[in-house]
Amino acid sequence: MRLIENWFSERYSENLQLSFRVKDQLLSVRTDFQRIDVFDTYDYGKLLTIDGTVQMSEYDEFVYHEMITMVPYYYVDHKPRSALVIGGGDGGTATRLSQIGIQEITNVEIDTQVVEVSKQFFPHLTSVFDRKGVNLLIQDGIKYLAETKQKFDLIIIDSTDPEGPAEGLFSKSFYENAKKALNPGGVFVTQSGSPYYQPKAIKMAYSGLSGIFSHVKPYTAFIPTYPSGFWSFTLATDSVRPLESNICKPGKYFNRDVLNGSFYLPQFVKELIGI
Ligand code: SAM
Repeated sequence: MRLIENWFSERYSENLQLSFRVKDQLLSVRTDFQRIDVFDTYDYGKLLTIDGTVQMSEYDEFVYHEMITMVPYYYVDHKPRSALVIGGGDGGTATRLSQIGIQEITNVEIDTQVVEVSKQFFPHLTSVFDRKGVNLLIQDGIKYLAETKQKFDLIIIDSTDPEGPAEGLFSKSFYENAKKALNPGGVFVTQSGSPYYQPKAIKMAYSGLSGIFSHVKPYTAFIPTYPSGFWSFTLATDSVRPLESNICKPGKYFNRDVLNGSFYLPQFVKELIGI
């Protein structure tokens, strides 16, 4: 008897890819912006991919979503009440924000299909969009930030990599608009890719934000399903250090040690961004 195995592979380079053995492909759809696939994998549960790149898996999404919300939360120089999320149509970031006590959330996602697909396969993450105080807008986050008069304590860029519709989310003019939309003492954070396989993202984020904010601080986390497992975020603020009085309960990945330790960068990352 011949056994047929199915695999999804994300290619990191010409010579390397990460493969997930899959039980089934649950969906594949081409939207106006990108191609979305959902797989049921053996080791990571349901896996959402966009244009062949892993966006999140059921079993390790907690790392990314805690790190993109809880770290910046503690850098706001007052108790944060409001947040803007750009991207994040899977609902994971808005869910964590809501869990840590942020009631007013505006989530701007460009692709309505990402939300619809996530409602179907990750309803525990998208249910936040029905909550009072959470406002989901389907539009381009670049245009939204250029036009909004609203101000936020936290602005979180939970985007795809700097290509296609997300490219402008890594530009200087976008960062300038983000600064204008922050309340005094507020914090901006963007996911900035794998320093090892996607050096362009962290370089664009670091150089673009420097000169606009007085403190630009990249930090990293271990996310097994992302390229190389080593992922970066870049935080920018005009306030200086975490507000100790804000320190609260740990998450599943995040704790006080991680809050401090994730800002210690390996030498090759420092050299990449020129610090
Ligand atoms: N955790 C993920 C990662 O780092 O791979 C990101 C997940 S989230 C699904 C990324 C979202 O950003 C996608 O749904 C995509 O449609 C959205 N996006 C890309 N460009 C955008 C833009 N200009 N405005 C708003 N949303 C955008």
